[in-house]
Amino acid sequence: MTTTAPAPTPATDLDLRADLYIGGAWRPGSDGGRFAVLDPADGSRIADFAIASEQDCDDAVAAAAEALPAWSATAPRVRSEILRRAWEILTAEADRFAEIMIRENGKSTADAVAEARYATEFFRWFAEEAVRIPGDYRLSPAGDKRIVVTRRPVGVALLITPWNFPAAMATRKLAPALAAGCSVVLKPARETPLTAAYVVDVLERAGVPAGVVNLVTPQPTGPAVARMLAHPAVRKLSFTGSTEVGRTLLKECADRVVSASMELGGNAPLVVLASADLDTAVEGAFVAKMRNGGSACTSANRFYVHESVHDEFVRRFTARLEAVHTGPGSDPANDLGALVSLAERDKVAGLVETARQEGATLVTGGHPSASGAFYEPTLLTDVAHGSTINATEIFGPVTAVVRFSTTDEAVDAANDSEYGLMAYVFGEEREAVSVAQRLDVGMVAVNRGVVSDPAAPFGGTKQSGLGREGGFDGILEFLEEQYIALTA
Ligand code: NAD
Repeated sequence: MTTTAPAPTPATDLDLRADLYIGGAWRPGSDGGRFAVLDPADGSRIADFAIASEQDCDDAVAAAAEALPAWSATAPRVRSEILRRAWEILTAEADRFAEIMIRENGKSTADAVAEARYATEFFRWFAEEAVRIPGDYRLSPAGDKRIVVTRRPVGVALLITPWNFPAAMATRKLAPALAAGCSVVLKPARETPLTAAYVVDVLERAGVPAGVVNLVTPQPTGPAVARMLAHPAVRKLSFTGSTEVGRTLLKECADRVVSASMELGGNAPLVVLASADLDTAVEGAFVAKMRNGGSACTSANRFYVHESVHDEFVRRFTARLEAVHTGPGSDPANDLGALVSLAERDKVAGLVETARQEGATLVTGGHPSASGAFYEPTLLTDVAHGSTINATEIFGPVTAVVRFSTTDEAVDAANDSEYGLMAYVFGEEREAVSVAQRLDVGMVAVNRGVVSDPAAPFGGTKQSGLGREGGFDGILEFLEEQYIALTA
């Protein structure tokens, strides 16, 4: 067993990779097919990415299975140093990292830079966690045996990620999986494979051995993923995406009792109490709503604002939205970039139309762009709790405000959802924390607009998911306990 990491290969000029990565080699799909990756700001074609065939997916799982024994036996310090090196490379190449996301996802420069930084930090955090995997040693209560508990990698892990945070959702899985000693097959979203391929390229340059990380992009996705989940070598699924697809995958995991971690959809309530400092509330709520253009599972979706501050909050928030510059993310002066596709733009437009038909008042915005996948920052008032827009994950720059009278009313409404990922509360801190504790969600931001931090446990209750990513829990999702009984 080596105790020092292999030297990194020299940095490349970072040409975009548009191929599969299997067993340590970049290659086209065995059927030769490719799909177009588009820039949602103008519809232009950025790349033709390789389609992974069934054979390619089988090969990727086989390569991961072959690489697993050596990788899981590699000293934690070595795994740690490789992850640390990935952090160093991504830190040095932060502009490049952000640029790829601006181009294929459409996000603004500020959002892309923020995501690049956030995504990169998972490698540093889990480099530090790789050498701190806990175990346990105890004498049994009866005194007849010694209880030794160790943790070992669960095995080959399939990682499936969405398009909205194409870098961070990948690194939030890759880093703990590799730290734990698992080998992986990464399947990114169709809209954003280039970011995933770039991260994999960085891992290769950081010294990850052949076969430990594999990248596949099958089309269509469903049958290929079902096939990989049926492969006897696959022992773990870590999925981030919609609740609808998560449900399907949980059923597929059931057939072979594959361990599943699920980061699913959200419908975050944002409560502004009468005691809120309105400057703090408007600024925090703006970030909670507009970060990533509203395309975030944590995005504030249902605004519940106390009647005593409602009109002033709406006035100030509207002014804030009307100051936003919308346009291609490649221009740093634009705060709001494109949605990921024309289909997403039209979905958001449809939700706003339905809200108006259901009685909501349009205060500002409400228009899709004539070309490109842009949608104006929009605010609706007189939204009814339980209306379509209130009950749907909007995933766009649309604020839908409900007025409330009592705190109990706001708490009941906030909890009245199948989702339980995230909530925001603005108000005097002690009161806001007591409201936070009554909310059935995995994460609450009090008087602030962002919670995400690699050092904190990210995840939801109810149909928002199973398990946690990041923090001390993230690595545990990729480890299994083994108890060995020794005679006392
Ligand atoms: P999605 O569920 O449509 O797709 C997610 C991934 O699953 C993609 O890679 C997609 O190709 C794949 N997929 C689609 N159908 C599949 C199938 N039948 N079998 C296997 N894989 C399949 O989600 P999306 O539109 O890419 O992302 C948006 C959703 O992700 C939102 O609901 C959002 O809330 C959620 N999300 C959750 C978190 C979280 O941490 N909880 C973070 C980001 C996004």
